[in-house]
Amino acid sequence: MTGTPEEKSLKGLFIRTYGCQMNVYDSERIRDVLRPLGYAPVEAPEAADLVVVNTCHIREKATEKVYSELGQLKRMKEASGGRMTIAVAGCVAQAEGEELIRRQPAVDLVLGPQAYHKLPEMIARASRAIGDRLETEFDTIEKFDALPKTREVDGPTAFVSVQEGCDKFCTFCVVPYTRGAEISRRVDDIVFETRSLASQGVREITLLGQNVNAFHGPAPVIEGGDDWTLGQLCRHLSKIGGIERIRYTTSHPRDMDDDLISAHGDTPALMPFLHLPVQSGSDRILKAMNRGHTADHYRDIIARVRQARPDIAVASDFIVGFPGESDADFEATMQLVRDIGYAIAYSFKYSSRPGTPAAEMHGHLSEVVKDERLQALQGLLREQQTEFNASQIGKSLPVLVTGKGRNPGQMHGRSPYLQAVHFEGPESLNGKIVDVKIVGASLNSLTGELMRVPEAVL
Ligand code: SAM
Ligand code: SF4
Repeated sequence: MTGTPEEKSLKGLFIRTYGCQMNVYDSERIRDVLRPLGYAPVEAPEAADLVVVNTCHIREKATEKVYSELGQLKRMKEASGGRMTIAVAGCVAQAEGEELIRRQPAVDLVLGPQAYHKLPEMIARASRAIGDRLETEFDTIEKFDALPKTREVDGPTAFVSVQEGCDKFCTFCVVPYTRGAEISRRVDDIVFETRSLASQGVREITLLGQNVNAFHGPAPVIEGGDDWTLGQLCRHLSKIGGIERIRYTTSHPRDMDDDLISAHGDTPALMPFLHLPVQSGSDRILKAMNRGHTADHYRDIIARVRQARPDIAVASDFIVGFPGESDADFEATMQLVRDIGYAIAYSFKYSSRPGTPAAEMHGHLSEVVKDERLQALQGLLREQQTEFNASQIGKSLPVLVTGKGRNPGQMHGRSPYLQAVHFEGPESLNGKIVDVKIVGASLNSLTGELMRVPEAVL
């Protein structure tokens, strides 16, 4: 769906997305908001009339990348004779505000994650060189209400935002400051969006939120009008024709309630994959992080989820080198990893973020120590991931076909456990769920052979 805008009246739009899946979703919605104004995606920033840099503030490196990208865009803007408009969206925009325009004056517009529905109005104001170039107010409900109710999607998988913001205030994290307070979307609106996605061929939805399992959106009046939990929402969405797979991310151990755990056992559409970040295996560090749970509480949740859905694949996030983390604390993290056995996990060196409580704590560790610990943890996680993938060899897995592979005749798709699967098969299978016998596995993907496909599916 990208390329040079075909009609003269179309304007080129290029969006660069950094960071989490929430940002990927937001970028899709920015495209939806701008489509009625005649903006069509182009493949390179040089060809764009409007470049949106959708930013991430979670670690220092992510923020620095944004400034270096803005330097390159400034040169392109000059080469375009000033035709290009540069907008910075997302969490860096929220956190830096005016400072962004001061450090890089080529930036025309700055808008926080709760303001991108205001982009059309801001572009109009900028073209007339009037009004504010900065929009960083927090009003998530207004944003949810103002966005187009339907979306254009490409492919059988899509994100659906159900919750935004965070009230947990982990001491290392900027999200509560950049994304604002926790807020849930109305069930009616989520159902409407999901139905529209299903009618366009979407088979798998991933419900998104910074703390998605804290979801408590009001149900339709006909269903009683009470606030629903994520488990109730998943069961309800699983009844929508065409939606065969549901996932959710990212969740918090404190919000993993009994109902959601039992939904993993009683809702076949809920995929056997749980991304439940733990951050550390040391109770002392978890306390300093203000996570509100212990390592054993986390072990207990995983045990209960595995009881409800024995084949569930578990994923997590870890931070190494939090201020004050001792060798024994780090060893407790390694032990937790050995105890749980992860299918996949993301691990980061602690990055000090200005304005967060952890930035002011004593005992910041050297980069050398953080590097050593990260390497040790990632080595163990890689072993577990390789082992988990290899355990699929010989099994037949239902694979949702998501597109053509790199080699001719090859297709790729997703297993229930969110693994990439490559196999030979016809293009007509795109968007279908087919059985694939797994014959090979590596760290990042599986290879398989297509099983007999019923005529009706071909
Ligand atoms: N809400 C989720 C949770 O509770 O875990 C995660 C949201 S955050 C966008 C994604 C991940 O970034 C976190 O799980 C954490 O591992 C990592 N992260 C957040 N702040 C960080 C920091 N200051 N330094 C290093 N990693 C960080
Ligand atoms: Fe950040 Fe903690 Fe909120 Fe996750 S729960 S977004 S890590 S403050």
